[in-house]
Amino acid sequence: MSNQLLVIAGPTAVGKGTVIAHILENYPDVHLSVSATTRAPRPGEVNGFDYFFLTHEQFDQAIAAGEMLEYAVVHGVNKYGTPKAPVVEALKRGEKIILEIDVQGVAQVKAAMPDCKTVFIAPPSWEELVRRLQGRGTETPQEQARRLETAKAELATQDDFDYVVINDDVASCARKVVDLIQA
Ligand code: 5GP
Repeated sequence: MSNQLLVIAGPTAVGKGTVIAHILENYPDVHLSVSATTRAPRPGEVNGFDYFFLTHEQFDQAIAAGEMLEYAVVHGVNKYGTPKAPVVEALKRGEKIILEIDVQGVAQVKAAMPDCKTVFIAPPSWEELVRRLQGRGTETPQEQARRLETAKAELATQDDFDYVVINDDVASCARKVVDLIQA
């Protein structure tokens, strides 16, 4: 059943969000799990759609209640996690589900659901990754530096994934990712 579950990770600014948006728009039978986080919403982000925005207390209560399929502290500050029930229910209905989570979370999902497929989205090069992060302009220089540190550590883990797909072109990257679920 969990072979319909695709777990995607990749460094900051690699364009995961764009690839996933392309998938959701063009492959209507693929659904994205909405994560929970303790970080503040960015302008335009909607609670329950982009994330479930929780306080640290609410997040810890959800962990204690066993409601998280996985969770991790990302970029050294905030907790992010996947609510378990919606994923289990969707898989029962036979839906194809994508999780977009950090590399620590991937190992936890693989342990809980060994049939899932894990995919690492990689940048064409390190220089291109730095260029994309700086070009996005949504983070302070300090936050950018912290994200690049995380990115370096994440790039080092790509051999642990079932598949690596390079994001050089959004549409072709999206197609390769979707083909993995259908494979
Ligand atoms: P952002 O703050 O830019 O939305 O996300 C920061 C990082 O958190 C991303 O690298 C993303 O993969 C990770 N993340 C988002 N949701 C989850 C989740 O549910 N679990 C885990 N482990 N990481 C997540």
